Amino acid sequence: MAKETGLIVQQSLDALLQDMDFLPHLKGLDREQAFRSLGAILSTPNHIHKSYLRIVLDSGNVVRVPAFRIQHNDTLGPYKGGIRFHESVNEDEVTNLATLMTLKNALHEVPFGGAKGGIIINPRDYSVRELYMICKKYVQYFSDVLGPDKDIPAPDMGSGEREMDWMMAEFKNIHPGQPYRGSFTGKSVVNGGSLGRREATGKGVYFTMRYMLHDFLHNQSSWLGSETSRDNRYLQTALGLAERPLKLAVQGFGNVGSVAALEAYQCKLLQNKIVAVSDRNHTLYNEDGLDVPALVDFVAAHGGDLPVSADQLGEAGIKAELLDREAVLTMDVDVLILAALEDQIHVANADQVRARLIVEGANAPVTGDADRILDDKGVIIIPDILANAGGVIVSYFEWLQGRETQFYSEEEVFRQLVDKMQHTMKSLLPAFFGGSHSLRTYGYKHAVHKLSATLYRLGKLY
Ligand code: GLU
Repeated sequence: MAKETGLIVQQSLDALLQDMDFLPHLKGLDREQAFRSLGAILSTPNHIHKSYLRIVLDSGNVVRVPAFRIQHNDTLGPYKGGIRFHESVNEDEVTNLATLMTLKNALHEVPFGGAKGGIIINPRDYSVRELYMICKKYVQYFSDVLGPDKDIPAPDMGSGEREMDWMMAEFKNIHPGQPYRGSFTGKSVVNGGSLGRREATGKGVYFTMRYMLHDFLHNQSSWLGSETSRDNRYLQTALGLAERPLKLAVQGFGNVGSVAALEAYQCKLLQNKIVAVSDRNHTLYNEDGLDVPALVDFVAAHGGDLPVSADQLGEAGIKAELLDREAVLTMDVDVLILAALEDQIHVANADQVRARLIVEGANAPVTGDADRILDDKGVIIIPDILANAGGVIVSYFEWLQGRETQFYSEEEVFRQLVDKMQHTMKSLLPAFFGGSHSLRTYGYKHAVHKLSATLYRLGKLY
């Protein structure tokens, strides 16, 4: 999907052009001109920074590691977005992910713009000292364009609180005497990180599903008005799911997938059974439901990997069949949570997906073509922009706490997280269940609307 972010921006603008409540005072050619300007602004990044970091490896060899920081748009506040450490990182991908951050922040009313960073490495191939050097060099090379009021990186795939701590320390070295706590988020709690930041994305992912199937549908009288019809196909799907015990499969058992799976397992409001989870090695399957807390403990004690053999399953007292890694995607389940990599559901496997609800914990796990195939089949997708925003929302709380040097309790962080995500869900779901477009389209439209109104008022459209 990320590849098509530009296209979606354009489609959202086309839909807004028909909406006469939007920029109502502009008519005719003036209106068309404003929309063309919006298209030009939102479909291109403001800045693409690229450097080759010079790293001395443990062997003494010197290598150059390609790295990016792409700043898409800062209309709503300082640039914000993670730094991805992965071999497949490239300029187009980082640009699209930066665009997604602009839209995600706009949608959830987080006062930041959108950016993304990337380093083309497989972190597993580097020693701790080498990774430390890569993090320091990243900050040295990009130090002029980063900062608490300029651009605030965070973790993404392949990076975590350790890397953010190292990077903040280097930022502080380079800019002595200047505020530094808000320069990076996703730090460890001892270094000014927020309680609950680590769990925030996974918790938010599960919350969006629970909110749609439980809280929202149980309260139909408050929104099932004239614009909604009982035979809306999405509403039919959601009502069907809300009425029965649910079988769930979770792809990815890292920071996002494991937390979402645990939330689902512990939830008393829906009758969930997690029948499958997967990681880079295998899918674990048990039709009676997996013991998720035992799996979380196992993973914590085994370097992040799920059990890989019958012996390991036996030792941990976990009952499960070991299937191949991809099996998780096409299981006979009600809900599929995608919390691994991007482009996991594509044209070649979309038809085999049996889940009726897909929740995107990762960014862009469903390709654009697959998105259309699934939508035609009536599958509901809670898109990345909506489902996985818990991370950046709590990053925003972390940034605020760093400024005030007043820290919230974990309970307070989760209360505010739920408030914010609930507010966004409430603003999208009535239109979604009353209309004919995907939730992704409503999410993009809402975000582009917010950005457009701001840009117009700033006098940037003509
Ligand atoms: N990398 C995460 C995302 O894609 C979090 C970004 C942040 O906290 O700034 O949303």
